Amino acid sequence: MTYIFGHTTPDSDSIVGAISLAYLQNQLGNESVASRQGDINPESRFILEKFGFEAPILKNEYSNENVYLVDFSDLAQAPKDILEANILGIIDHHKLGDITTSSPLECWIRPVGCSNTIIKEMFDYYGIEIPQDLASIMMCAILSDTVIFKSPTCTKADTKAVKELSKIAKIEDYKALGMEMFTVKSDVKGATPRELILRDFKDFNMSGKNVGIGQLEVVDLSLFDNMKDELFDMMKTIKEENNRDMVMLLLTDIIQEGSQILVSGDNEVVERAFDIKLDNNEIWIDGVMSRKKQIIPFLESAYK
Ligand code: MG
Ligand code: MG
Ligand code: MG
Repeated sequence: MTYIFGHTTPDSDSIVGAISLAYLQNQLGNESVASRQGDINPESRFILEKFGFEAPILKNEYSNENVYLVDFSDLAQAPKDILEANILGIIDHHKLGDITTSSPLECWIRPVGCSNTIIKEMFDYYGIEIPQDLASIMMCAILSDTVIFKSPTCTKADTKAVKELSKIAKIEDYKALGMEMFTVKSDVKGATPRELILRDFKDFNMSGKNVGIGQLEVVDLSLFDNMKDELFDMMKTIKEENNRDMVMLLLTDIIQEGSQILVSGDNEVVERAFDIKLDNNEIWIDGVMSRKKQIIPFLESAYK
C-alpha cells in the first residue's frame, strides 16, 4: 500500500493532487490511497462536494510506509517521521526543498503553476484516461493555484491542461467556475483570526530562521477592514507558539491584483527584502499575487 499526500495545512492542489495521483497509481497497478495532513479548507470542501468526492483520509504518521509526496518537498511541511518513510516519488512545482531519500525515486518537479498540471501530464505520459469527475477537480485545483490564470506562476502548460481537462469535464465556462470557487474562498464570516491566518499557511527554514507565511486570496480586501488588530494579535501569538522569528500574512486581492502584507517580527528584514517601508507593520504591494514566486525568494536572500 502506498500513501499519497500533500503539504501540511493542505490546499486544493494538495487534496486533489493526492486523489488524482492515487487514481493514476491504482490504474498503473500500484495500490494507493490518498491521505492528508490536516483539515480540508472551505474551497477544497466546495470542490469535493460539487463533484462528489470523499476527502482523503487524515493520517500524520508514515514511518516504514511507502509514500508519494505532492505539492511540497520541504521538511517543514512534511509529517514529523517523513525520513523514516520510503519515499517513492515527489510531484511538485515549488523550489526544491530539503527532503532527501535513500533510494532512487520518481521525481516530477517543474516550474509550472500547479502540481495537478504535472499530474495531468503524467496521465498523458502513461496513457491513462482521466474520468470526467476527476478531470473536473483537477481543473479546479489548477484554477485555484494559478488564481484563474492571473498569478505570475501560471504557464502555458497550465492553461493547456485546463483547456484539455475542461473538455473531459464537459465544463465550458471554467472561468465562471473559478470565480465561484474564489467567492467561496472569500467567505471569512464566522472564521476566527487563527483559522484565517492558518487556512493557507506554510513554514520555512530560512538560513536558520523559522518563518511562517499565510495567504488569503479574496475577491474584496475590505472584508478584513474591521479585523486588522485581531489578526495582528493572533500573528504575534502564532509567532511565539512555535518559536518562529517572523510571521507574515498576505491578504491578496485577486481582482485588484496585489497584496496587503502584514508582518509580525523581523520588520527590517522584510523592508530590505522588498525595498519598502512598513507603515504600522503593513503595506500594500501592487502586483504581488504569488507567495512562491514573489515573496519567498526575496525573503530567503534577505535572511542570508
Ligand atoms: Mg499547495
Ligand atoms: Mg500547488
Ligand atoms: Mg496557493
